[in-house]
Amino acid sequence: MLSTLAADELLVAETFGPTVQGEGPSTGRRAVFIRLMNCNLSCKTCDTPYTWDGTRFDLDAETTVTSIGDLLAWATAQPVDMAVITGGEPLIQQRRLTALARGLADAGLQVEVETNGTIPPTPDLLAWVTRFNVSPKLSTFGAGMPVSRRIKGQVLRQFAVSGQAVFKFVVSTIGDLDEITELVADHELETVYVMPEGRTAAEITRRLGEIADEAIARGFHLTTRLQLLAWGDQRGR
Ligand code: SF4
Repeated sequence: MLSTLAADELLVAETFGPTVQGEGPSTGRRAVFIRLMNCNLSCKTCDTPYTWDGTRFDLDAETTVTSIGDLLAWATAQPVDMAVITGGEPLIQQRRLTALARGLADAGLQVEVETNGTIPPTPDLLAWVTRFNVSPKLSTFGAGMPVSRRIKGQVLRQFAVSGQAVFKFVVSTIGDLDEITELVADHELETVYVMPEGRTAAEITRRLGEIADEAIARGFHLTTRLQLLAWGDQRGR
């Protein structure tokens, strides 16, 4: 569908807000969200499979073709100063994403982009994005996918040296911290957050307790999933 889009259109899964950024360094901050369709990975525990998994979802029905102008009009009318662009994998639509980020930044909004860190950002995109929340997928989370598909070392380095990225790893077991430690050393990643995997407040709280001390001892920051604690596993919150 991407090839049939007009130059000023994006494949959008949903827009929502005002809400709060629930994860990472901006946790708790009011924001609007723009979720884009499509992903180049297929993580086993993905919480947004409706953006990419055509075996379980009618992707045409999930997609709204939306002009950048309409997205900007909507986002800038909201009483917030931050927009989060997420997916799916937003960098699949990088050229149009760049135009959207530029429009949001020109309107005075801070722009966060959430990415799996496998597609290199162009200098144009870097110019308009305040922060990338880069979330490389570990072997437990991305089970079944070869490491060569999940982890692109050169791309991770590009994000790291940009000075505009933090790295956020979703942790299922305490053993995941070993894999994170290795990735951080191999690719010289800085500003690393670990976040417990889970779809309920009970799961998140339990895993956070299991990993907290060891994560801190290894020099990692912690984040929860605030949206899940506040509203449960509701879509569009
Ligand atoms: S990279 Fe993100 S959106 Fe894509 S399959 Fe994995 S968890 Fe889902």
